[in-house]
Amino acid sequence: MKRVAVLTSGGDSPGMNAAIRAVVKTAYFYQIEVFGVLRGYEGLIQGTFEPLNLERVHNIIHRGGTILKSARSERFKTEEGRKQAYEHLLKHNIDAVIAVGGDGTYTGAKVFCEEFPEIAWIGLPGTIDNDLYGTDFTIGYDTAINTAMEAIDRIRDTADALNRLFIVEVMGRDAGFIALRSGIASGAEAVLIPESKADLPRLLRRLEQRAKNPEHAFIVVVAEGDEIGSSLALKQKLQYKYPRWDIRVVVLGHLQRGGAPTCADRVLASELGFAAVEALRKGIKNVAIGKVHKEIHYTPFEQAIKHHNDINPNLLRLLEILA
Ligand code: ATP
Repeated sequence: MKRVAVLTSGGDSPGMNAAIRAVVKTAYFYQIEVFGVLRGYEGLIQGTFEPLNLERVHNIIHRGGTILKSARSERFKTEEGRKQAYEHLLKHNIDAVIAVGGDGTYTGAKVFCEEFPEIAWIGLPGTIDNDLYGTDFTIGYDTAINTAMEAIDRIRDTADALNRLFIVEVMGRDAGFIALRSGIASGAEAVLIPESKADLPRLLRRLEQRAKNPEHAFIVVVAEGDEIGSSLALKQKLQYKYPRWDIRVVVLGHLQRGGAPTCADRVLASELGFAAVEALRKGIKNVAIGKVHKEIHYTPFEQAIKHHNDINPNLLRLLEILA
């Protein structure tokens, strides 16, 4: 293993920089050269490679976003695009690629490995959604739930002052992890997530109770992917049923992706970046690396993309009682 490329792909997440830094510093320790690829898989196709040295990763562990930029690449989904990527990797004598991203990034890695097995791949879980199999937590998730929690706390102050009902939409296209945790932590009166069918009837029951005494703030946290529709559609439904209530919608959106990573995310990203280089040195390849029950865990891409982490049923039960 003489030369490794590292890239960040798909939606950015806080902690990606800490992972890049850990890869570069560990590789430096073992005298392995590192090239950064700008803009994820699109950069592989365009050949935007830059040598990464210690100076380049100095002072980035605390920064959100990614110094390598990220992208969603339609061309990488085509055989022709991947062939171009392969040619650029050959031209730069790259032995292995470390890709930090989510489910889509792992899918791209799996397809590429099957077509060009001579280049080793390692995937690191970089997504705020925490929906990746093979790791208890993804890089960026802890920061995102803390950001969402702080935002909901602020909303509660104003909701309480004017007895308003707020619907707060958080990220999570297919998964309710952010909604569930930030909802529990902020004491939300209701949480709607795609994984739980019981949420809406429970919300309606809670609103019947509120109708008897609307002199309180009421916060509903909704995952953006919840099947009952967008937060605005939910507002319309509730407003129709309770026309006299002051109901507001806040979509937290991309502010959940930004900001300095939390301590937990910086440490996780550092451990996984380090583990990626260690794995390649041991000849381990074509796996996603995560942490399960405090141990480093390798999951073949095939398996990682077929499965999804389940919502902890104990947290759902907790919510039922505490909300
Ligand atoms: P996030 O979960 O944060 O959105 P992600 O990695 O899932 O991150 P995607 O945009 O879904 O983000 O995927 C990243 C990139 O992976 C895509 O832009 C595309 O280049 C590549 N990719 C996704 N699916 C495939 C596929 N079936 N074949 C080849 N490449 C793919």
